[in-house]
Amino acid sequence: MERLRVFTAAKIRTMDPGRPEAKAVAVSDGRIVSVGTLESMEPWLRRVPHDLDDSFANRVLLPGFIDPHTHLRQSGIYMGLNYVGPIDSTDPNGRPVAPLPDREAVLDRLSALLAAHTGKRDEALVAWGYDPGMQKGHLDRDMLDRISSDVPIWVLAYAPHIVYANTAMIERIGVDESSRVHGIGRFSDGRLNGWFVETEAVALAARPVRTEVFGQGFGLESLRLQGQVAVRSGVTTTADMIFGIESFDREWDDHQTAIEQGMLPLRILLVPFEGRLRKQYGDNFLEFYKTMEEKSSERLAVHGVKFVNDGSYPSMTLRLNYPGYLDGEVGLRGEVPWEEMFDRMLPFWKNGIQIHSHANGDETVDMTLNTLSALQNAAPRFDHRFTIEHYCISTPAQSRRLAALGGLASVNAYFVHTRSGIHADHGFGPDRAEATARLGSLVRAGATFALHSDYNLVVAPMHPLTAAWTAVNRLRAEDNTVVAPGERISVERALRAITVDAAFVLNMDDRLGSIEVGKHADFAVLDDDPFEVDPKNLKDIAIHGTVLGGEFHAASSS
Ligand SMILES: [Zn+2]
Repeated sequence: MERLRVFTAAKIRTMDPGRPEAKAVAVSDGRIVSVGTLESMEPWLRRVPHDLDDSFANRVLLPGFIDPHTHLRQSGIYMGLNYVGPIDSTDPNGRPVAPLPDREAVLDRLSALLAAHTGKRDEALVAWGYDPGMQKGHLDRDMLDRISSDVPIWVLAYAPHIVYANTAMIERIGVDESSRVHGIGRFSDGRLNGWFVETEAVALAARPVRTEVFGQGFGLESLRLQGQVAVRSGVTTTADMIFGIESFDREWDDHQTAIEQGMLPLRILLVPFEGRLRKQYGDNFLEFYKTMEEKSSERLAVHGVKFVNDGSYPSMTLRLNYPGYLDGEVGLRGEVPWEEMFDRMLPFWKNGIQIHSHANGDETVDMTLNTLSALQNAAPRFDHRFTIEHYCISTPAQSRRLAALGGLASVNAYFVHTRSGIHADHGFGPDRAEATARLGSLVRAGATFALHSDYNLVVAPMHPLTAAWTAVNRLRAEDNTVVAPGERISVERALRAITVDAAFVLNMDDRLGSIEVGKHADFAVLDDDPFEVDPKNLKDIAIHGTVLGGEFHAASSS
């Protein structure tokens, strides 16, 4: 060891329950050498030359936050399109764009965009960000036809599980009433309604606008922007949960380049999408993992596999058990038939590749638990870390079964605050809406879980302290009522879910998630102590920046 750098702080919350607090942390080669006080680490300081760094003397250090489910590159691409969403967003240059309150405002915006579109009538008008829950109702073909009957119009929902198209666009996509594609929507009379729902149909609908959507060369630029967002949120590690959706090679290269050029101060795991893996590699998928392993580093690596088995929460396309949706909607399954799920998962299970399985609704959670149970019966495993992604609508019984099968959950909790009011009367009904993200049930069942944002493919910020605040307080946005109070969790448990338990969910807890000897020197630098502030103010703690492998990155204000 050549030299030590010793950071002192007002307080260090290590998230190591055995040694929970410290005042100094010594770092060398990007890793932690000692945690304690200047006095306690004296045996090191006496032997190794060192520099004292007191720039965090008035700050509080926590382990760098881990958001275990994001889509940074893909969401940046969408941010380059015309925006019609319900919350503040940014354009490709990071400039703010204003939200639109409802469907009427969105149709007006599309009309205005079309007026500016003259001269390129055969080019499609492409927009992103529609939210059928917050903006009060789905779009359809007839509404979009009233804007234009000849310019193809293509609108992607904020959670990109739905594309809405007008007649000119439907023709360009090349489907008609006789088409039998999983996920194309119809009016009650059988006529196509312009909806393309879930991965297979969305991919079909995206084909004719590939150039407009993906051809902007925006992949690298979006990573740079999202890297800034991560630093401002205290995030040092994330996992992209749909690697390969555009191209394994291009996505890997963009991340690699962004990291090499110092634009992306993060550790990133890329989790391959099973549908794409199977299409490209068939039964030889182990070859893929071998090749990727050779390329991987402590900053960028391939991890596990991702299955998508129902729709999204905000677009109201998840699958619900009895009594179902208020209006008789049924949601949508993913394109892997549920009867084939066991056979599709088994090769990954047997080869020790961690499975991340998206399940938003309780019907999908049941299917996933049945599959996990069948996998356990076929080839019993300990410490498999099978993770249910999102786990938005579930029951206490499902939490107990998940724990009994050794499974984990990575939960999107933001919706409790922003959408439990909306979906009480729209979509899922009051009971399911209130009990969104049953984290208290997971605690009582003894299951380990993480909190994630799914940023920016659902209407939620990447800001782990806000996720923790939501989980601790469960305040409904409309009236600050506490919803499903028994599902609230402690501050300590919520902070674990964005640090050490999130590391466990990504199978990185031997290296990340707490401030412990031997782990990476990754910290979130905060202005206040989240264990000391009023829990109502958890999300408002100012974030000064992050430390990644011992290097400080300042949170810029722009
Ligand atoms: Zn996702």
